[in-house]
Amino acid sequence: MFNSIRPNSLEELLEIIDNGDYYIFAGGTDLFIRKRQWQGAERKFDKDVVFISHLEELRGIFEDRNYYRLKTCVTQDEVANSTLLPDYLRVPYGLMGNPAIRNTATVGGNIVNAAKVADSLPLFYALDASIVLKNIQVDRVMSIKDFIFGRYKTDRYENEIIYEVIIPKEDFSGFRYKKIGSRKSSILSKLSVFIVYKKAHGKIVDIRVSVGAVNDVPIRSEEGEKEFVKDNDIDKFLLTIREMMEGEDDRRSTKLYREEISLRIIKKFLVEIMEE
Ligand SMILES: Cc1cc2nc3c(=O)[nH]c(=O)nc-3n(C[C@H](O)[C@H](O)[C@H](O)COP(=O)(O)OP(=O)(O)OC[C@H]3O[C@@H](n4cnc5c(N)ncnc54)[C@H](O)[C@@H]3O)c2cc1C
Repeated sequence: MFNSIRPNSLEELLEIIDNGDYYIFAGGTDLFIRKRQWQGAERKFDKDVVFISHLEELRGIFEDRNYYRLKTCVTQDEVANSTLLPDYLRVPYGLMGNPAIRNTATVGGNIVNAAKVADSLPLFYALDASIVLKNIQVDRVMSIKDFIFGRYKTDRYENEIIYEVIIPKEDFSGFRYKKIGSRKSSILSKLSVFIVYKKAHGKIVDIRVSVGAVNDVPIRSEEGEKEFVKDNDIDKFLLTIREMMEGEDDRRSTKLYREEISLRIIKKFLVEIMEE
């Protein structure tokens, strides 16, 4: 048996997790899967649970001059349907899960769970996004790339929550996104490719390419991107990405399939972007 707690404020939440070890429950869509047992049995929560998604301080999408700010309990559906956010964020979020999941699953939950297949991570890597972590005493700001250091592994302390995600505003000329799974809806990625770019006078002046679900964490080569802006050499860029690939076969796909298809998608997108 476990107890569940519903704090009345962010401050109360931070006090609770400072004084004990709890599962933080946002949308629960990952927790419920990870804690499942056999059919019909209760979820196997071996510590108490604290709910957070009702807290107003953790909800809402904001912008200021330089950043978009997503509070941690913003749902995937709220991102997908936001009138504030650019399409390069809205479109990938609209392809996650299914309508029921998107209504419950949160932005912060996808980051903290840090699954290999987490679809928001390639976006946040490419967009140089950061998070604000809070405990009862202090805030920490760190890049999402530094926060995640492996499959299901993050730099979060037990008395901390993600408070918000900060995404630098950029004047991108366009984006490309492709997620491959076995079905169209409600499916975890076999792989995904996300690209944002800026063009000026017909030339690419900034490009960010990230690949999800191949390695344990998204693949992105900032060095390779800088070289590509200078020489527009697609094959050289693909080689750089290929050398970073260290996936393995699993029940969703083979390593070979993931790697070959990601590279083909990147190539197709780069050709399109150069020609437009
Ligand atoms: C049918 C189905 C389809 C899915 N499809 C996709 C998909 O297409 N793409 C995809 O990426 N994922 C998918 N998922 C996984 C899941 O929906 C997402 O990862 C979701 O964003 C998790 O958010 P949540 O709020 O439900 O997290 P929860 O399950 O509540 O939490 C996940 C983890 O994060 C921790 N946590 C949550 N919020 C905070 C916080 N603010 N501070 C500190 N710790 C926190 C929890 O303690 C837990 O460890 C799917 C899941 C299901 C069941």
